[in-house]
Amino acid sequence: MHVLIVGAGPTGLTLAGDLAEAGLAVTVLERREQETANTTRAFGVHARTLEQLDIRGVADRLPGQKVRRVSLFDQVSLDLGNLPTRFDYLLITPQYEVEKVLRERAERLGAEIVHGEEVTSLCQTADKVIVTSTSRTWEAQYVVGTDGVRSTVRRLVGLPFPGRSVVRSIMLADVRLTAPPADVLAVNAVGDGFAFVAPFGDGWYRVFAWDRRKQVDDKAPLELDEIKQVTRRALGTDFGMHDPRWMSRFHSDERQVPTYRVGRVFLAGDAAHCHSPAGGQGMNTGIQDAANLGWKLAAVLNGHAKTELLDTYEQERHPVGRAVLRSSGAIIRLAMVKSALGRRIRSVLVGFLLGRESIAAKAAGQISGIGIRYGGKTRVGDVELTTGRLFEALRGGRFVLIANEEHATPDFVDVVKPVQPVAEPIMVRPDGYLTTWDDVRCR
Ligand SMILES: Cc1cc2nc3c(=O)[nH]c(=O)nc-3n(C[C@H](O)[C@H](O)[C@H](O)COP(=O)(O)OP(=O)(O)OC[C@H]3O[C@@H](n4cnc5c(N)ncnc54)[C@H](O)[C@@H]3O)c2cc1C
Repeated sequence: MHVLIVGAGPTGLTLAGDLAEAGLAVTVLERREQETANTTRAFGVHARTLEQLDIRGVADRLPGQKVRRVSLFDQVSLDLGNLPTRFDYLLITPQYEVEKVLRERAERLGAEIVHGEEVTSLCQTADKVIVTSTSRTWEAQYVVGTDGVRSTVRRLVGLPFPGRSVVRSIMLADVRLTAPPADVLAVNAVGDGFAFVAPFGDGWYRVFAWDRRKQVDDKAPLELDEIKQVTRRALGTDFGMHDPRWMSRFHSDERQVPTYRVGRVFLAGDAAHCHSPAGGQGMNTGIQDAANLGWKLAAVLNGHAKTELLDTYEQERHPVGRAVLRSSGAIIRLAMVKSALGRRIRSVLVGFLLGRESIAAKAAGQISGIGIRYGGKTRVGDVELTTGRLFEALRGGRFVLIANEEHATPDFVDVVKPVQPVAEPIMVRPDGYLTTWDDVRCR
């Protein structure tokens, strides 16, 4: 087998599809017996992730509600409506819908997904990795641990997960509302708590509430009344919430592994980094980790690139993970400001900063992922081509050269013609970032 992936969450499923599309033999081991749950953790898909899903042909299959203005607190909000993409919004949709389209794609392209197999041990030699799971042993050229925040793979390769706890005892409920908020997203933070309400678009709503005065263990019993009370304090009403289908308490840590690779084993998604849910970045970052790693593993295993290309996965994605820890940490800390004076300063300062066009555009680029760049390698937007769009041309998982006329290229590069002529040819990596001819030739 070429690649064994541990964990069939959004990160593992994205990677499995990309590797299968490149013609590689890939198996995903998942300890859960069932395919999907009707509960959901993530519920927001940002613009750059939607672009990555578009590059995989599944973005338009996601149901949900589009949000162009993200409220932060105290009437301060961030405008996503000016993002330079057709996905100029945050899509509110349950994580299981994202997993569903990614799973279907991965299976259609030939990835094998095996449920009820929990990985328990792993050892690597110079040319392979041997993995043991519930019922058997597997051998692969590379292993990727996408097994979430409590990653076994991370432990088995001996990596620490340094960081700290950022917020305890957040309450979560998925509920029905009799009187939904007028704004799509309702959020506010008062001195001793905060609440957040967002629609899934199918009649269900996600509520988060946090009460500074009641900090208890994640396992402490939780009643809907407790969530209602905090929501009333923060937002003035509980919107008539009822019939919870899921309630939970959770805490949130900020952690990141020092390295994303140990020999032939890689880590991606929550296994490599975790942070507060503020900003809705976890699933998004994991899918983009997979988009970065997939084509590199495929290029090396298909003999188009030297193994050094694999080092660029950590070089490019570790700093992005670090930036996400910083931004989501900043949002949650601002939401938790206690004193009235602190809260007044917060709204003036954040309102002032987001009132400045360049800072607001930078913040929107950061939170949506559209602004992510790898050194000089910027994202290439969805250029209109004589044969369709760039993101459609990238669907084969290959390099794409945008050029006004024919070019002789290696067989892993497709040449496409733009509707508006380009000043010079543009080479695009399979994950939609700018690269150069030299990069392609030296790989
Ligand atoms: C309340 C909440 C709200 C959130 N909201 C958002 C949001 O709006 N937007 C966003 O982007 N993110 C959000 N997140 C974060 C998001 O849910 C995670 O970042 C995302 O699920 C990570 O995906 P992953 O594939 O890396 O890991 P996971 O989804 O955790 O998947 C890991 C998989 O590995 C399997 N596994 C674990 N150990 C083993 C083993 N030893 N052998 C085999 N299989 C194993 C698990 O069963 C699991 O299926 C939220 C999280 C929480 C808790």
